[in-house]
Amino acid sequence: MSYTQSISALIKAQDTNKNSGLTSAQVQERQAKYGLNQIELKEGKSALVRFLLQIHQPLIYVLILSATIALFLGEYVDASVIYGVVLGNAIMGFVQEDKALKDLANLSKSIEQHAQVIRDGSVLYLNAKELVPGDIVLLQSGDKVPADIRLIQSQDLKTDESALTGESLPVEKNTEILAKETLLADRTNMAYASTLVIFGSGKGVVVSTGNKTEIGKISEMISNAETFKTPLTLKIEEFSGKLLWLIVFFSVLAFVVGWFKGMPFVDTFMSGVAMAVAAIPEGLPAAVTIILAIGVNRMLKRKAIVRRLPAVETLGSTGIICSDKTGTLTENKMTVKKIWSACKDYEVEGNGYTIDDKITDAPDKALTACLKAGALCNTAGFNPKSKEILGDPTEIALLVSAFKIGMDYRKLQKETPVIATIPFESAYQYMACLCADKTIYVKGATEALLPFCSHQMTENGDMVPVDRKAVTEKMEALARQGLRVLLCATKLKHPTDTLEHTDVQEGLVFLGLQAMIDPPRKEAIRAIKTCHTAGITIKMITGDHAVTARAIAAQMNLHGHGDEKEPVVMNGAEISQLTDENLFDCAMDIDVFARVAPEDKLRLVKALQKHNCIVAMTGDGVNDAPALKQSNIGIAMGQNGTDVAKDASDIILMDDNFATIESAVEEGRGVFDNLVKFILWTLPISFAEALIVMIAIFFNLRTPISPVQILWINMVTTILLGVTFSFEPIEKGIMNRKPRSPDAPILTKAVLYRIISTMLLFTALSFFAFDLLVDEQHKSEAVGRAVVVNVLVFSGIMFMFCCKSFDKSMFKTGISSNRWMIWGGILMALLQVLFTHTKLFHIAFKTGPISLQNWGLILACAGLVGVMTETEKFVVRRLEKRKS
Ligand code: ATP
Repeated sequence: MSYTQSISALIKAQDTNKNSGLTSAQVQERQAKYGLNQIELKEGKSALVRFLLQIHQPLIYVLILSATIALFLGEYVDASVIYGVVLGNAIMGFVQEDKALKDLANLSKSIEQHAQVIRDGSVLYLNAKELVPGDIVLLQSGDKVPADIRLIQSQDLKTDESALTGESLPVEKNTEILAKETLLADRTNMAYASTLVIFGSGKGVVVSTGNKTEIGKISEMISNAETFKTPLTLKIEEFSGKLLWLIVFFSVLAFVVGWFKGMPFVDTFMSGVAMAVAAIPEGLPAAVTIILAIGVNRMLKRKAIVRRLPAVETLGSTGIICSDKTGTLTENKMTVKKIWSACKDYEVEGNGYTIDDKITDAPDKALTACLKAGALCNTAGFNPKSKEILGDPTEIALLVSAFKIGMDYRKLQKETPVIATIPFESAYQYMACLCADKTIYVKGATEALLPFCSHQMTENGDMVPVDRKAVTEKMEALARQGLRVLLCATKLKHPTDTLEHTDVQEGLVFLGLQAMIDPPRKEAIRAIKTCHTAGITIKMITGDHAVTARAIAAQMNLHGHGDEKEPVVMNGAEISQLTDENLFDCAMDIDVFARVAPEDKLRLVKALQKHNCIVAMTGDGVNDAPALKQSNIGIAMGQNGTDVAKDASDIILMDDNFATIESAVEEGRGVFDNLVKFILWTLPISFAEALIVMIAIFFNLRTPISPVQILWINMVTTILLGVTFSFEPIEKGIMNRKPRSPDAPILTKAVLYRIISTMLLFTALSFFAFDLLVDEQHKSEAVGRAVVVNVLVFSGIMFMFCCKSFDKSMFKTGISSNRWMIWGGILMALLQVLFTHTKLFHIAFKTGPISLQNWGLILACAGLVGVMTETEKFVVRRLEKRKS
């Protein structure tokens, strides 16, 4: 029980060294013994339960009940076909859902977690899987704790343990020894795997890894399979619920009417069953699952990892994207370009992280100290494996600028080791460190640090009172060029070995300003333009200075007005003074929010949402988590985001790039389109079948189609035709439309109109074909029904191609743009030939062989469906054109 041990006993027990960590040999040995540090999640619900859940739907119960009664009535073929369809449907749903859920689980596993570890005396960035007991781990705000760790150092460390204990308040951590009986939630000297560091920093010894960790022990409680539910699937469930009552009502009505008209009981009952079977869109839930799952995969290909499924469809309605600046709109490749120290300007040559070029002027004392501050007060580290400097680009830029005057930070860090740090927190906007020679170095935002500076260093190292006005003016001049400016300062002769915020909040000596360029991403500029065309507003929410932010926003034309108008900027201080009502009034008009405090980010998201907009919001820091959760789509950065932000997000950008958000929105629109296209295609067929049966009963006509034939159509067309809608490519011009209103119904009036008109057309064609054959040409009912089945199927194939676009002509969308659809259509046609001309099918479905002439009639009906739908689209296009 490591929490009861003293630090020295713990270090001894774990056979490690608190300063240099484990040796490579020890690591190898322990990796062989303990394996990888990963939790093997147990399956959520068993496969059988998940399979049975597919059947656990009211609409399916109706089918099962109907089949069972049909069985008792001796209608064996009908009963077995209905059972077959229920089973087939459940298998299809199960397989698809299982695959989709596994894909989703694998996606979340693919999000790698890293840890900062001391081994062989060096700080390394490693994949958290590689940790072993005894490893010395450094924790900082934003990290997800990678294993169970006994703390040996805590600098204001606070963790969020809600994932483990359910406690939502932050827990303060220290290193004090605890009594044996201390409960898990009260073990303040431990940091547990999967909890989140939300403040401060710390150091500790890994005591358990993988399934041996506390969270690993309860892993059975964590289901790796989330349910496959989204607002849309819930809406569809609700719709199915309502539909059920309607179907039951009409089926009973059909039965009663038939009964009164003196039809035999079995026939009336089977007619009622036919009604139910026809109207129930059996394939709908499975098709929706498939379309969403394919959407997730498409987004992954475009570098957006979906963590929560509802985001796939919500993305399509995004009206506002609130984006970070650094790294998302810009490249996050920081390079110090200008330095201002001891009132002298320096140009720094070389791009990116190249360190061949030197600062052009020779360094004086102030400049040396300024660069030293940047290099020592730094969290970036060297990874000997990859031979790269790893860490935050701001930090790396400062190491590189020091390197450019020949200051090797590794040597520097060895000569003047850092003994205490105050980590960078957005709330304070600075980082400080205390070195072994008792010198404090600080770097951070100018407004945050300048008030604490009393002196400034001259070129020969003297201290003179600081000229705050000159510093501010210089900072603004640099910021106007779009540069990110960091102030470096120092304080000599610190009396203790510890470092507190109060120690740096007075008496600092100003050393200089380091200004770095972070170029806008070219692809983000293009994406911003596309978003404007798509009616999406973009707002920059940044922690950076207002002047820098405005310059970058103008360069990227974020506000969409070109050069005519400057982007409108609001500062964090102004936001915090506004009431929620005032913020609501002005939020829509502001383009850039600079130096925003985390709590104001949250208020801002709420204010924008009140304008009835779907708000997507990016974030990378710990403090962004509440706003990410509040927004409709929380987007975290995969590369530079903290684990806390990733945990709170719905989507993770693998490349941290704004352009990826735009692609994801486009995919989201595509997914929604495909869902609606599928519904538009499937409902007229189902409803037409139901209407045919109802009309036949009410008007005492012979039913042109039987329940099993209806089931056949519904099942095969869904599998072979309906599912192909998920592969439908994104329609051209999808980003020229305005975003869908969050309140808009799934089916617009135009779509509803087309569903009804097509349903009526299908019904009329079926009666026409049946009457023509049976009444006029005196063919058997079996032949008449075989023709009607084919009329519905082939019209369904034709209508499917028409549904490729709501408004554009079938020929303009390109019939061959979806090869799955082509193959689906061909297979379906071949299957119908089998259905129509083989004995087995004739017996099972009570149909008869049809002639070549009849095939002509079937194709003519299908052709008519195509002509009518395309004509309707043409008329609508014309009307729209005239309106605009
Ligand atoms: P964005 O929110 O768009 O990502 P940002 O990175 O500038 O912008 P923060 O990370 O909150 O936002 O930084 C706010 C300010 O704090 C910066 O403008 C800079 O002055 C200062 N700062 C940023 N990173 C560091 C750091 N590592 N050390 C010290 N100060 C920093």
